[in-house]
Amino acid sequence: MEPTTIQVAVPRPLHAVYDYKVPADIDPPRVGARVRVPFGRSRTVGVCVARHVANPHPKLKAIDAVLDADAAIPGELLELARWMSSYYHHPLGEVLATMLPAAARKGAEFKLDPPPAWIVSERPFANGRAKEQARLHAYLAEHGPVADKKIVELGFSRAVLRNLAASGSIRRAQFEPSASEAALTPTAAQSAAIEAVVAGLGHYRPILLEGVTGSGKTEVYLQAIAASLASAGQVLVLVPEIALTPQTLARFQRRFDRVGMLHSNLSDHERLQTWLRARNGELDVVIGTRSAIFTAFQKLSLIIVDEEHDSSYKQQDGLRYSARDLALKRGQDHQVPVVLGSATPSFETLHNAAQARFAHLKLLERAGGASMPSYHLIDMRGQSLQDGVSVPLQHVIRKHLSARGQILLFLNRRGFAPTLLCAACGWQAECSDCDARLTLHQQPAGLTCHHCGLKFQVPATCEACGKPALMPVGVGTQRTEEALEKLFADIPIIRIDRDTTRTNNQLEAHLAKINQGAPCLMIGTQMLAKGHHFPNVTMVGIINADAGFASPDFRAPERTAQLIVQVAGRAGRAERAGEVWIQTYQPESAALVALIEQGYTGFAAHELGQRRAMDLPPERPMAMIRADAVQPELSHQWLTALLEAARRDASLQPTETLGPAPAPLARLAKRHRYQIMLIAPDRRALHRALRHISGLARANPPPGDTRWSIDVDPYDTL
Ligand code: ADP
Ligand code: ZN
Ligand code: ZN
Repeated sequence: MEPTTIQVAVPRPLHAVYDYKVPADIDPPRVGARVRVPFGRSRTVGVCVARHVANPHPKLKAIDAVLDADAAIPGELLELARWMSSYYHHPLGEVLATMLPAAARKGAEFKLDPPPAWIVSERPFANGRAKEQARLHAYLAEHGPVADKKIVELGFSRAVLRNLAASGSIRRAQFEPSASEAALTPTAAQSAAIEAVVAGLGHYRPILLEGVTGSGKTEVYLQAIAASLASAGQVLVLVPEIALTPQTLARFQRRFDRVGMLHSNLSDHERLQTWLRARNGELDVVIGTRSAIFTAFQKLSLIIVDEEHDSSYKQQDGLRYSARDLALKRGQDHQVPVVLGSATPSFETLHNAAQARFAHLKLLERAGGASMPSYHLIDMRGQSLQDGVSVPLQHVIRKHLSARGQILLFLNRRGFAPTLLCAACGWQAECSDCDARLTLHQQPAGLTCHHCGLKFQVPATCEACGKPALMPVGVGTQRTEEALEKLFADIPIIRIDRDTTRTNNQLEAHLAKINQGAPCLMIGTQMLAKGHHFPNVTMVGIINADAGFASPDFRAPERTAQLIVQVAGRAGRAERAGEVWIQTYQPESAALVALIEQGYTGFAAHELGQRRAMDLPPERPMAMIRADAVQPELSHQWLTALLEAARRDASLQPTETLGPAPAPLARLAKRHRYQIMLIAPDRRALHRALRHISGLARANPPPGDTRWSIDVDPYDTL
């Protein structure tokens, strides 16, 4: 009999699907099972994607082993992988490798840890002489299920637990029930939103839930989840990287018993355990960051994407997928509602809502009666500055401090100053490996490249003219902190950025101090901007609104406005109304005025008009082809040749190509970067062009150390 031949997707960039034969002594794997195969001179773990492929090649290699009796990747996810491979123009084997938890990718056995808790079994406890065992048995009878860890904390020895378990009078059990909190009484707007989601259960229904910060979106999620669990479903909740804190998890655990968490700070083993439990149907709710979108479920009934505009949903290297977009795709595949929540929806989502492809629900008021902050501009032209803090801003700060309010100042720039300039000749300190200026830091003093991470000593004199005329230009959070210390000597100042706050514990310590409620000044980057609840903040100051709007990236205004609104959302969250003060040198800027006078909605309408006029997304679909190499001209030449060859074919026709041009950050970590931008009249044309170009690129791979990539729906064009 002919040996079975299978097709295996391996995590390699080129073709990624190869035929192998299955030796007679191995049972052929199911489609979706992992197999260990020889590849080149090494071995790798791949996924069987088809069986009984006809391939009479006599030298076909044989697989080493089948790792799963069943499919590791259920059929639905395999279909999703195929779809992603064609949508993102990425090899199937690498897509599958991205989907699998790291441990599974490395070949780990799919074995669940024993359940973490203990309860009494049906068999009575009969060893009256073992006093400690009797005590533990009685405790479990009253309190179980109780986790191993808790038992040890209560002072029982491991031996007592072991002996009691051996007697058979206790057994392992799943999760300790954690739900203890009742639902809040929803407001009318919340009720309408909950009903809309519940009415959509059992169907694909994308819903934009636009709700100002503090309007009670999370309560809507919680009650919609409860309704969907009532019919034995499972729910996936995606949250931004920065938002998956122990508090977020706790909030869900107070409502639901079987909640699992997936994020990058877990060990590979922990991630695999949660993934397997969701796949088995042992978890009701999985809450996770971007890659949690690849969780397998028994019966998915609802998907929620919180802060759907957040950049962390887009993977920026390798397989450049958007978890938000994949949530919609999975919602379609499973026929379940997908709730996209945000105070500042992405333009893509607003566009879809405007085209009536998404339902659009609004929560316009804050829950619990808190009012929305008022916005004010500070015209910085001609103002005298104290390290970034203008005199009018100082006045407002004093006013709020004397009313015993807390103040949050936002500046999205770490370090002391973004530039070190020679006042004599104009030289600026630049990174040796990037086309970028170095940021001056103090304590410890040094120059740091915020792009590649290189550090340099601060020169005593100018490297160009030798004069001792170096001066810091511009402000970062360190400099503002110093200025505030001088201006407000008796007020505690708390700086929160990646330099002061590297760990979760440090962040917790800062937040605990703030939440004591005494007047204080906070200065921080976007670390401070998102998610936190500061009931005593009555004023928010934006130190520099202009930098974000000025970036060459077409999404910069959208991103900047989202950040400003998110930061502003920290003010006046409790009974005291808040004020937002924005420093700008461009008080007449149409974007800024729209934002101040009409809020995010008005701003978005204005900006979407600009995007439309310029044929940019979301009006037109876009993709980028990027290439970089250490040798300056290498990637440029390859991209030029690629585009020339591609243009010979009519299939490129309706799609506009721009470039190859140097990336705005033209050199990064010694590599010279070039890019081609593609803008198409519709998705079909875009994909036709990309298929054509990627086919040519794979047939004529770039020389030397050149790396190249395709980015469909790029988030970042820098
Ligand atoms: P969002 O997710 O929109 O920022 P949250 O769900 O965190 O808002 O709600 C903000 C605050 O309002 C929380 O303290 C929450 O407990 C409270 N809240 C939400 N809904 C209600 C309600 N229906 N009644 C009373 N308080 C509510
Ligand atoms: Zn000089
Ligand atoms: Zn650098």
